[in-house]
Amino acid sequence: MDERRQRLYRADAIVLKRRDHGEADRLLTVFSAQRGKLVLLAKGVRKTRSRKAGHIELFTYSTILVAKTRAWDLVTQAETVETYLGLREDLLRTSLAHYVAELLDSFTEQEDSNPPMFLLLRDTLGRLAEVPSESLALAVRYYEMRLLGLAGYQPELFRCIECEDELQPVTNYFSYPGGGVLCPRHGEGQIGAEPLNLSLFKTLRFLQTRDWDTVARLSLSMALHAELERLLQATIVYHLERGLRSPAFIRSLNDQIQAYSKPAT
Ligand SMILES: [Zn+2]
Repeated sequence: MDERRQRLYRADAIVLKRRDHGEADRLLTVFSAQRGKLVLLAKGVRKTRSRKAGHIELFTYSTILVAKTRAWDLVTQAETVETYLGLREDLLRTSLAHYVAELLDSFTEQEDSNPPMFLLLRDTLGRLAEVPSESLALAVRYYEMRLLGLAGYQPELFRCIECEDELQPVTNYFSYPGGGVLCPRHGEGQIGAEPLNLSLFKTLRFLQTRDWDTVARLSLSMALHAELERLLQATIVYHLERGLRSPAFIRSLNDQIQAYSKPAT
Protein backbone atom coordinates (compact mmCIF):
# COMPACT_ATOMS: atom_id res chain seq x y z
CA MET A 1 0.00 0.00 0.00
CA ASP A 2 1.44 3.39 -0.84
CA GLU A 3 2.34 5.68 1.99
CA ARG A 4 -0.22 8.33 1.10
CA ARG A 5 -3.13 5.91 1.40
CA GLN A 6 -2.02 4.83 4.85
CA ARG A 7 -2.21 8.41 6.01
CA LEU A 8 -5.86 8.78 4.98
CA TYR A 9 -8.82 7.32 6.77
CA ARG A 10 -12.58 7.53 6.44
CA ALA A 11 -14.90 7.88 9.43
CA ASP A 12 -18.59 8.21 10.23
CA ALA A 13 -18.55 11.12 12.64
CA ILE A 14 -20.83 13.45 14.56
CA VAL A 15 -19.59 16.95 15.47
CA LEU A 16 -19.69 17.42 19.26
CA LYS A 17 -17.92 20.74 19.53
CA ARG A 18 -16.09 23.26 17.40
CA ARG A 19 -14.01 26.33 17.91
CA ASP A 20 -12.38 28.88 15.66
CA HIS A 21 -8.72 28.40 14.90
CA GLY A 22 -6.52 30.96 13.16
CA GLU A 23 -7.99 33.17 10.45
CA ALA A 24 -10.31 30.84 8.62
CA ASP A 25 -10.07 27.38 10.20
CA ARG A 26 -11.98 25.44 12.81
CA LEU A 27 -10.97 22.78 15.31
CA LEU A 28 -13.64 20.12 15.57
CA THR A 29 -14.22 17.57 18.29
CA VAL A 30 -16.10 14.69 16.68
CA PHE A 31 -17.20 11.28 17.87
CA SER A 32 -16.68 8.62 15.22
CA ALA A 33 -18.05 5.11 14.84
CA GLN A 34 -14.62 3.67 14.01
CA ARG A 35 -12.14 5.54 16.21
CA GLY A 36 -14.10 7.14 19.03
CA LYS A 37 -13.42 10.78 19.83
CA LEU A 38 -11.14 12.76 17.51
CA VAL A 39 -9.97 16.35 17.41
CA LEU A 40 -9.56 17.47 13.79
CA LEU A 41 -8.63 20.62 11.94
CA ALA A 42 -10.95 21.80 9.17
CA LYS A 43 -9.05 24.32 7.07
CA GLY A 44 -10.68 27.29 5.39
CA VAL A 45 -14.22 26.46 6.53
CA ARG A 46 -14.96 29.95 7.79
CA LYS A 47 -14.53 31.35 4.28
CA THR A 48 -17.87 32.00 2.59
CA ARG A 49 -16.97 29.86 -0.42
CA SER A 50 -16.05 26.76 1.60
CA ARG A 51 -17.74 23.63 0.27
CA LYS A 52 -16.95 21.63 3.40
CA ALA A 53 -18.52 24.07 5.88
CA GLY A 54 -22.13 22.89 5.67
CA HIS A 55 -21.11 19.28 6.23
CA ILE A 56 -19.36 19.89 9.52
CA GLU A 57 -21.88 22.02 11.41
CA LEU A 58 -22.45 21.26 15.08
CA PHE A 59 -24.36 17.97 15.67
CA THR A 60 -24.16 17.02 11.98
CA TYR A 61 -23.53 13.38 11.15
CA SER A 62 -21.14 13.16 8.18
CA THR A 63 -18.82 10.77 6.46
CA ILE A 64 -15.42 12.41 6.55
CA LEU A 65 -12.07 11.72 4.98
CA VAL A 66 -9.16 12.56 7.28
CA ALA A 67 -5.48 13.02 6.47
CA LYS A 68 -3.01 12.35 9.25
CA THR A 69 -0.29 14.98 9.58
CA ARG A 70 2.41 15.60 12.13
CA ALA A 71 0.33 18.38 13.70
CA TRP A 72 -3.48 18.13 13.47
CA ASP A 73 -5.36 15.47 11.55
CA LEU A 74 -7.10 17.32 8.71
CA VAL A 75 -10.64 16.94 7.43
CA THR A 76 -10.13 16.77 3.66
CA GLN A 77 -13.68 15.83 2.58
CA ALA A 78 -17.06 15.73 4.29
CA GLU A 79 -20.44 14.48 3.15
CA THR A 80 -23.55 14.93 5.29
CA VAL A 81 -25.48 11.80 6.26
CA GLU A 82 -27.96 13.46 8.64
CA THR A 83 -28.43 17.08 9.73
CA TYR A 84 -31.03 16.57 12.52
CA LEU A 85 -32.84 19.65 11.33
CA GLY A 86 -35.32 19.53 14.23
CA LEU A 87 -32.48 20.28 16.64
CA ARG A 88 -31.82 23.60 15.00
CA GLU A 89 -35.35 24.95 14.94
CA ASP A 90 -36.10 24.81 18.66
CA LEU A 91 -34.04 26.31 21.48
CA LEU A 92 -34.85 23.61 24.03
CA ARG A 93 -33.88 20.86 21.59
CA THR A 94 -30.65 22.72 20.75
CA SER A 95 -29.72 23.08 24.40
CA LEU A 96 -30.44 19.41 25.12
CA ALA A 97 -28.23 18.45 22.16
CA HIS A 98 -25.44 20.59 23.66
CA TYR A 99 -25.84 18.76 26.97
CA VAL A 100 -25.80 15.34 25.28
CA ALA A 101 -22.65 16.23 23.31
CA GLU A 102 -20.89 17.70 26.32
CA LEU A 103 -21.69 14.68 28.46
CA LEU A 104 -20.26 12.31 25.87
CA ASP A 105 -17.17 14.50 25.48
CA SER A 106 -16.67 14.45 29.26
CA PHE A 107 -16.90 10.67 29.54
CA THR A 108 -14.55 9.77 26.69
CA GLU A 109 -10.85 9.91 25.87
CA GLN A 110 -9.50 10.53 22.37
CA GLU A 111 -9.14 7.55 20.01
CA ASP A 112 -10.89 5.12 22.34
CA SER A 113 -13.19 3.28 19.95
CA ASN A 114 -16.72 2.58 21.27
CA PRO A 115 -19.12 1.84 18.39
CA PRO A 116 -22.19 1.32 20.64
CA MET A 117 -21.60 4.80 22.05
CA PHE A 118 -21.62 6.24 18.53
CA LEU A 119 -24.96 4.54 17.88
CA LEU A 120 -26.34 5.87 21.18
CA LEU A 121 -25.30 9.41 20.22
CA ARG A 122 -26.75 9.07 16.72
CA ASP A 123 -30.06 7.69 17.98
CA THR A 124 -30.29 10.24 20.80
CA LEU A 125 -29.79 13.22 18.47
CA GLY A 126 -32.40 11.70 16.16
CA ARG A 127 -34.84 11.47 19.07
CA LEU A 128 -34.13 14.99 20.29
CA ALA A 129 -34.82 16.24 16.76
CA GLU A 130 -38.07 14.33 16.34
CA VAL A 131 -39.89 13.15 19.47
CA PRO A 132 -42.86 15.18 20.74
CA SER A 133 -41.72 17.81 23.24
CA GLU A 134 -43.27 15.94 26.21
CA SER A 135 -40.87 13.02 25.55
CA LEU A 136 -37.69 15.11 25.36
CA ALA A 137 -36.75 14.95 29.04
CA LEU A 138 -37.26 11.19 29.16
CA ALA A 139 -35.09 10.77 26.05
CA VAL A 140 -32.29 12.57 27.91
CA ARG A 141 -32.70 10.39 31.05
CA TYR A 142 -32.59 7.28 28.86
CA TYR A 143 -29.41 8.59 27.25
CA GLU A 144 -27.80 9.32 30.64
CA MET A 145 -28.53 5.80 31.88
CA ARG A 146 -27.21 4.16 28.70
CA LEU A 147 -24.14 6.39 28.53
CA LEU A 148 -23.19 5.51 32.13
CA GLY A 149 -23.36 1.84 31.15
CA LEU A 150 -21.30 2.23 27.97
CA ALA A 151 -18.69 4.33 29.79
CA GLY A 152 -18.19 1.52 32.33
CA TYR A 153 -20.33 2.94 35.16
CA GLN A 154 -23.49 0.86 34.84
CA PRO A 155 -25.35 1.22 38.18
CA GLU A 156 -26.04 -2.17 39.79
CA LEU A 157 -29.81 -2.34 40.31
CA PHE A 158 -30.55 -6.05 40.70
CA ARG A 159 -28.27 -7.40 43.47
CA CYS A 160 -27.12 -5.71 46.67
CA ILE A 161 -23.61 -4.39 46.00
CA GLU A 162 -22.56 -5.60 49.47
CA CYS A 163 -24.10 -9.09 49.97
CA GLU A 164 -25.17 -9.77 46.35
CA ASP A 165 -28.62 -10.91 47.45
CA GLU A 166 -31.37 -10.24 44.95
CA LEU A 167 -32.94 -6.86 45.73
CA GLN A 168 -36.56 -6.91 46.89
CA PRO A 169 -39.35 -4.42 46.08
CA VAL A 170 -38.91 -2.46 49.31
CA THR A 171 -37.12 0.78 50.17
CA ASN A 172 -33.50 0.01 49.31
CA TYR A 173 -30.57 2.45 49.33
CA PHE A 174 -28.62 4.01 46.49
CA SER A 175 -24.87 4.37 47.02
CA TYR A 176 -22.93 6.80 44.81
CA PRO A 177 -19.50 5.53 45.92
CA GLY A 178 -20.67 1.92 45.60
CA GLY A 179 -22.11 2.47 42.12
CA GLY A 180 -25.46 0.85 42.83
CA VAL A 181 -28.12 -0.30 45.24
CA LEU A 182 -27.76 -1.69 48.77
CA CYS A 183 -30.39 -3.86 50.47
CA PRO A 184 -32.02 -2.33 53.60
CA ARG A 185 -29.74 -4.39 55.86
CA HIS A 186 -26.56 -2.97 54.28
CA GLY A 187 -27.81 0.45 53.21
CA GLU A 188 -29.19 1.88 56.41
CA GLY A 189 -26.76 4.32 58.01
CA GLN A 190 -24.18 3.73 55.27
CA ILE A 191 -22.19 6.88 54.38
CA GLY A 192 -22.90 8.09 50.83
CA ALA A 193 -26.09 5.99 50.57
CA GLU A 194 -29.59 7.45 50.44
CA PRO A 195 -33.01 5.79 50.63
CA LEU A 196 -34.34 4.92 47.19
CA ASN A 197 -38.11 4.97 47.00
CA LEU A 198 -39.71 2.05 45.27
CA SER A 199 -41.14 3.87 42.25
CA LEU A 200 -37.78 5.48 41.49
CA PHE A 201 -36.06 2.09 41.89
CA LYS A 202 -38.49 0.51 39.40
CA THR A 203 -38.07 3.40 36.96
CA LEU A 204 -34.27 3.07 37.03
CA ARG A 205 -34.51 -0.66 36.31
CA PHE A 206 -36.97 -0.01 33.50
CA LEU A 207 -34.63 2.54 31.87
CA GLN A 208 -31.67 0.20 32.18
CA THR A 209 -33.33 -2.87 30.67
CA ARG A 210 -35.95 -1.75 28.13
CA ASP A 211 -35.47 -0.35 24.67
CA TRP A 212 -36.39 3.23 23.85
CA ASP A 213 -39.71 2.39 22.16
CA THR A 214 -40.88 0.79 25.41
CA VAL A 215 -39.44 3.52 27.64
CA ALA A 216 -41.06 6.22 25.48
CA ARG A 217 -44.49 4.96 26.58
CA LEU A 218 -43.72 5.64 30.26
CA SER A 219 -45.60 8.47 31.85
CA LEU A 220 -43.80 9.76 34.95
CA SER A 221 -45.15 12.32 37.38
CA MET A 222 -43.14 15.54 37.49
CA ALA A 223 -41.97 14.70 41.01
CA LEU A 224 -40.72 11.25 40.02
CA HIS A 225 -39.01 12.64 36.93
CA ALA A 226 -37.25 15.27 39.06
CA GLU A 227 -36.00 12.54 41.44
CA LEU A 228 -34.80 10.45 38.51
CA GLU A 229 -32.98 13.42 36.99
CA ARG A 230 -31.32 14.33 40.30
CA LEU A 231 -30.13 10.76 40.95
CA LEU A 232 -28.72 10.26 37.44
CA GLN A 233 -26.99 13.64 37.38
CA ALA A 234 -25.54 13.14 40.87
CA THR A 235 -24.18 9.78 39.65
CA ILE A 236 -22.66 11.49 36.61
CA VAL A 237 -21.06 14.21 38.74
CA TYR A 238 -19.69 11.60 41.13
CA HIS A 239 -17.88 9.73 38.33
CA LEU A 240 -16.69 12.85 36.50
CA GLU A 241 -15.29 14.38 39.68
CA ARG A 242 -13.37 11.22 40.49
CA GLY A 243 -11.83 11.33 37.02
CA LEU A 244 -11.10 15.06 37.49
CA ARG A 245 -12.93 15.76 34.26
CA SER A 246 -14.62 18.88 32.94
CA PRO A 247 -14.66 21.11 36.03
CA ALA A 248 -16.85 23.79 34.39
CA PHE A 249 -19.38 21.21 33.21
CA ILE A 250 -19.46 19.63 36.69
CA ARG A 251 -20.12 23.06 38.21
CA SER A 252 -23.06 23.69 35.91
CA LEU A 253 -24.53 20.24 36.66
CA ASN A 254 -24.07 20.79 40.39
CA ASP A 255 -25.93 24.12 40.16
CA GLN A 256 -28.78 22.32 38.47
CA ILE A 257 -28.88 19.60 41.16
CA GLN A 258 -28.92 22.30 43.87
CA ALA A 259 -31.79 24.00 42.09
CA TYR A 260 -33.96 20.84 42.28
CA SER A 261 -33.20 20.42 45.93
CA LYS A 262 -34.53 23.89 46.81
CA PRO A 263 -38.03 23.70 48.30
CA ALA A 264 -40.66 25.11 45.95
CA THR A 265 -42.02 28.45 47.14
ZN1 LIG B 1 -27.05 -6.54 51.20
